[in-house]
Formats: sequence, structure tokens, C-alpha cells
Amino acid sequence: RSVMERVLQRRSLRMRNMQRAWRESPEGRKMMDFRKSLPAFQEKERLLQAIARNQVIVISGETGCGKTTQLPQYILESEIESGRGAFCSIICTQPRRISAMAVAERVSAERGEPLGEAVGYKVRLEGVKGKNTHLLFCTSGILLRRLLSDRNLNGITHVFVDEIHERGMNEDFLLIVLKDLLPRRKDLRLILMSATLNAELFSSYYGGAPTIHIPGFTYPVRAQFLEDILELTGYKLTSFNQVDDYGQEKVWKTQKQLVPRKRKNQITTLVEDALNNSSFDNYCSRVRDALARWMPDCVGFNLIEAVLCHICRKERPGSVLVFMTGWEDISCLRDQLKAHPLLGDPNRILLLTCHGSMATSEQKLIFEKPPPNVRKIVLATNMAEASITINDVVFVVDCGKAKETSYDALNNTPCLLPSWISKASARQRKGRAGRVQPGECYHLYPRCVYEAFAEYQLPELLRTPLNSLCLQIKSLQVGSIGEFLSAALQPPKPLAVQNAIDFLKMIGALDEKENLTNLGKYLTMLPVDPKLGKMLIMGAIFRCFGPILTIVSGLSVRDPFLLPQDKKDLAGAAKSRFSAKDYSDHMALVRAYEGWKEAEREGSAYEYCWRNFLSAQTLQAIHSLRKQFNFILKDAGLIEEDTNNNNKLSHNQALVRAIICSGLYPGIASVVHRETSMSFKTMDDGQVSLYANSVNARYETIPYPWLVFGEKVKVNSVFIRDSTGVSDSILILFGGALACGAQAGHLKMLNGYIDFFMDHNLAECLLKLKEELDKLLQK
Ligand code: ADP
Ligand code: MG
Repeated sequence: RSVMERVLQRRSLRMRNMQRAWRESPEGRKMMDFRKSLPAFQEKERLLQAIARNQVIVISGETGCGKTTQLPQYILESEIESGRGAFCSIICTQPRRISAMAVAERVSAERGEPLGEAVGYKVRLEGVKGKNTHLLFCTSGILLRRLLSDRNLNGITHVFVDEIHERGMNEDFLLIVLKDLLPRRKDLRLILMSATLNAELFSSYYGGAPTIHIPGFTYPVRAQFLEDILELTGYKLTSFNQVDDYGQEKVWKTQKQLVPRKRKNQITTLVEDALNNSSFDNYCSRVRDALARWMPDCVGFNLIEAVLCHICRKERPGSVLVFMTGWEDISCLRDQLKAHPLLGDPNRILLLTCHGSMATSEQKLIFEKPPPNVRKIVLATNMAEASITINDVVFVVDCGKAKETSYDALNNTPCLLPSWISKASARQRKGRAGRVQPGECYHLYPRCVYEAFAEYQLPELLRTPLNSLCLQIKSLQVGSIGEFLSAALQPPKPLAVQNAIDFLKMIGALDEKENLTNLGKYLTMLPVDPKLGKMLIMGAIFRCFGPILTIVSGLSVRDPFLLPQDKKDLAGAAKSRFSAKDYSDHMALVRAYEGWKEAEREGSAYEYCWRNFLSAQTLQAIHSLRKQFNFILKDAGLIEEDTNNNNKLSHNQALVRAIICSGLYPGIASVVHRETSMSFKTMDDGQVSLYANSVNARYETIPYPWLVFGEKVKVNSVFIRDSTGVSDSILILFGGALACGAQAGHLKMLNGYIDFFMDHNLAECLLKLKEELDKLLQK
């Protein structure tokens, strides 16, 4: 036998010895006892057999029954036990990075090993794994990326795709690619895992794959709806019927009256008679409308505060999990609660947050037991719905909404709005309270609103722009994008696909025949949105990498400029101090970041952030993302070791502006000056407004004919968030040539530049050219 085989055999034996030793140790036994108590354990043999006999199986079971942590581990253990541990290679995907990390850590602990031994993880820009790693938890994006370079997944023996019920875009995409792969890899095993019971949908997609259900045990959870809660917290809800008749202002008054603690026993003026005089559907839709107005975003912080007070004062011990819509709301509520006499008392309350971009250290705290007599309250996004299990939760507060991207293909505009969740989600949220004992769930909406929820959420593939996805499909070399996507579980609309292809052509990532250009090839190497990837590449080529790196990191994390509701004006003024005469949110970000680095060196970072309404946490995240992008671009050979060389032209404002433009194009709006005001028009003639916190919103005039922007979001009307002013010449040279109608030729030119500059370092030349052009155009 080959040397390699012998090495692996020896390693397999070592793995077996280690596994047995752990199981016989006292801690190992204790851990085994716990693991045996999980519902999945009852099904272990049946599962292993089914996996051995079928290429694809679908497994469903309650959240917390042990799918994610146990099933891949069963395979690993049984392979190790049979002396083939070093020969198997198991991948288990997660929709979110934080769950991939948390689960890998947990499984390592269950095996009594440090992370990166038999079990590891890999998420975008981060990972812990070693040469002995045989079970890898990764995001679905990472597996897709791997499929780009290794179409047959050589060496992988088992693939688990977890949380498929969420119908995330990457999961749906993976399902198509894997379906295509299975006939070529007859020995590969595919296991699909889902929390809720629509297993048949997936089973039939894979030609009737067997399904196994793990019966779970959870304690009963009592659901309380808004009407019950209001009574609990000292108010009585009677009807929404009259809310409809209230003007917006009055509605607000009603809400305010509801909350002051002094008027606790006041009964509001709403009367329950709605069902008597309208059809149910009609009623529900009116209730929804009214509710949306009554509690915009349905977060109604004050109501959450009231419920939390009620729990902390009146209820038995147990942790509380609060579902909110997004990070902004969470941080806002956290600050508000910190100032509360009861809820802000650290001796009694451990207040934590749980969202996609939190730090790993913070993440661990969520799972930990709080000290005795301290109640843990976790403010979470819908991430805590299915992928993360916090065991000691006894109370759930559900605001009923989640921030969901939706996509208006007709207007080619993404919308990010908190919208009502589905019944499946609401049930799932409720179930989080019954893990260790009977629980309580407070739904902050009336029962009739719940009844009107959709059964399941629309798959992400049908409600997001497909730009990144189409680029990835192209690099899989599977032929036409449209044809490929038509094989999806629920294919997206042709118009949405066409928009994405048009976009990729417009930025120069695809040529007219839909083939990847050089730029496109580079973009597939970078794990960011194509726009931002292009900006990074241009920043590298033109030797002004530093500021562009900050901008791209900032746009990928989130805005570090805070906007507290009650200090909007001060915060806006603070931000515009960073803008000077740049007319650019992006450059304000660069200045703010550089100022922060400076302040950090002087030991005054805290004051700096406080004074300037900046989030230290976000700046820190931007800082670490910067390092990671830096590493990737070095790895791809796009930048040099020598930082000075990469930043030769960083001081050149016009160049920074030009590169921002090259990345954000075709996100451009023309600035239309009228006598007393300005308005902004996008390329498709749509009217847009500036986000209130944009530095450009504070100027009376903008001395640039164009604004380039990163995203256009439909909230009530269409807004652009961050923008930068650019001149005609910059737009012609670095953006598209829409203004002079030479689009296609221009794109070719842009592509040509990139090839050219890869070979020659001629940034200065182009700058000269640009200056000349500027002069010419100004005549
Ligand atoms: P599922 O994937 O079916 O939702 P998991 O495999 O994630 O379930 O979790 C199974 C059980 O393992 C949970 O109910 C919980 O008790 C325990 N568990 C999971 N992760 C952790 C953790 N990080 N710390 C402590 N216990 C955990
Ligand atoms: Mg799971």
C-alpha cells in the first residue's frame, strides 16, 4: 500500500485511542451522558444506516434536538471507531458565520479536544482548522467558494447542508450545484437538515430522497398576545378599530399614554368590537395597517421595556430572549435599558446582545450561565431563531418582525424593511422558551395579526438582487446563468436574473457574451460584493490602497457614525466636521477612522468616539476587517508587501474620489439645483433623497454635478445612504459613460485599463490624462 495510506491508517488508530480515552475519562462520561439525553441520540443507528444506504437524505427535527452538533459528529465517531477516522472528511454548512463558529467550538468541547483538532471551522476571512481536521463547519458561502475551485469536492466524503428551511440564497444555490454534482460523485453523501416540517419539498427536489424525522421534546410554552400582555403590564387593549380613525398624531399620543408607569392602570380607549362589523381578511389587513402605524417597526421599545419589567418583577427565574429587527434597534434599546433603574442594574441583570456582526468574545457570554440571582436578558436578531440555542431561556419576547431584504425587480431596487415574520418563524421563536422548563412567550402583536401571517417566508433567492450570485455561477462554468437558475427549487424571475447580468456587464465583470472578463475573474477571488471588490482592485492598482481599504471595510461592516434618536442634530454636525469640503460620506469615514487610530495612539480613543458620535465597536470591526482584506489582496498578488508603495497616491483626493466612483458606478445620481433647493435623480430618472445623516444632506449646494452612492434603499421613498460628489471627467473615466452615451466602448476601455495597469504601473499617467480631460471639459 502507498505510504500515504499507511500514514492515514496510523493516524486513524491514534484518533481511535484518543476518542476512547476521552469517553472513559470522568468529564468525557459526563459529556456523553448529556449527549445521550438529546432526542437525536435515539435515532442514531437509524440515521447512520440511512446515510450508509442512500446518497441523499433529509432530516428534520425541532431546534435543539441535536441535529447540528450531533449528526456530523456521529459520522465522525463511527468512522473513527471503525479505524477509518483519518480517511473521512465531513463538511457541515451553516447559513451564518457566528453559528459555524459556535457549533465548531461546542463539538470540539464535546469531544474533549481543542478547536482545530478533529473539528474546525471556516468562515469568510477567518478559520481554525488543522491537518487533523476531519469535520469542518463552514458557512454555505465558503462551500460554494470551494466548489468554484474544486468542482467535484475531491476528498470530501459527507456534506451536511444545515438550516435549509430558512431558504437562504446560498443554501438554495448549493442545492442546485450539489444536485448536479451527485451523479459524478456516487460515493459522496449529502445530508440535508431542516428545523420545520416541510421536508417533503426537499425530498422531492432530490427525486424522493428518504426523510427522517427526529421527534423532539420541548416543554409547553404559553403564548401571550398583545391583548394579554397589555393587561399584564397594566393596560387593556380593546380594539384597533378606532386606531384606524386616529390621525397619525393621535396614534402616537395613544402610544405614549400607554406607557408612562404613573398611569399604570389606565385603560386605553380602544374598544373590542372589530370582528363584528367586517370580514376577517379585511379586518386583518386593517389591523396590520393600524398596527404598523401605531407601533412603527412594531418594536415599540417602551412596550418591550414594560414586558421586561414585568418579567423581572413578577416572574420566576429564567433567562429572557428578545427578538428584535436589527442591530440598530438592538443597540438603541440596550442603551435605553442601561439607564433603567431595574433593568440597568448590573447586580440584577446581565444584558447581552446577539447579532450577526458581534465579536466572538461577546458570543460566548450568551451561552454562559449568569451568576446566581442575576437574570440574563439577550437582545437578538432572528439569528437566535434556529441556528443558535440558548439553553436557559424561559421567556421569549417576540416583536413579530424581522428585517428582511426584499427586491423590487421592476425598479431594480433592493428594499430593507422590517416586515412581519411568518407563522413558522413565530412558532420557532416561541419554541425557544421551552428548552429546560415550561416557558412563556410574549408576542407583541394581537392574535389576529398572527393569524394573518404567511405560512412560510419567501425564499431569499426570490427577494434579493442576484449580482454576486450570478458572478459566482459564471465562475462555476456551468453555462448560461438563466438556465442554471431555472433549476432552482423555486427559480427567480427572469427579469431579476437579467438585471443582475446587466449590472455585471455594466461594471465590466462580464463581456457582451456573458463571459467573465479579467476584472470578473479577480472579483470572484474576493469574498465581497462585486462593487466593493472592484473598488479594492482599483485602489490597489492606483496605489491608493489605504483609504479605499477603510471605505470598503466600512461599507461591509456598517456605518460607525451613530445617530441617536434624540441627538440627531448634534450627531449630524459631528459627522459633517469630518467632511470639510469633501462632499463625501466615504471620505468622512476615512477621516474618522484615521482620527480614531491617532486618538488610540494617544490613549484617548474613548473620548474621541464619545465626542464624535462614533461607535468604537464598529471602528474596531472595521479595523480588523481591513487587516483581513489586506491579507487577501496580498495573497492574490494584487498589492505589494511594502505599504508605502501601495499608498504612494493615497493623499490624492481626486484619485480617491475616482476610485470610489469606479466601484460604486452605476450607483449615480445627478445633482439638480433649483433656486432654493437641490434634488437628485438617478440614471433611470427616479427621484431619490439623501439619508438624513449624510454629510451631503447638510450642504445647501453641492459643487459637483454627480453623486455616486453605494446603495439605494426603499424605505418610504427611495433613499441613498452614503454618497460622494464627483465631476464629469471622473465619471467618464472611471464610471460609465452614460452622460455621453458611449457605454459599451467605455466599458471595454475600463477593462483595458485594468489589464494594462496590471502590467505597467501607470497610475500617474492616467491622472495626467484625467487632468487634461478635466481642463478640456471645463472649457
Ligand atoms: P439543533 O441543530 O437540532 O437545533 P444543536 O445540535 O444545535 O440542535 O444543539 C443540541 C443541544 O446541544 C442543544 O439543545 C443544547 O442543549 C446543546 N448545545 C448546543 N450548543 C451549545 C453550546 N454552545 N453550549 C452549551 N450547550 C450547547
Ligand atoms: Mg441546528
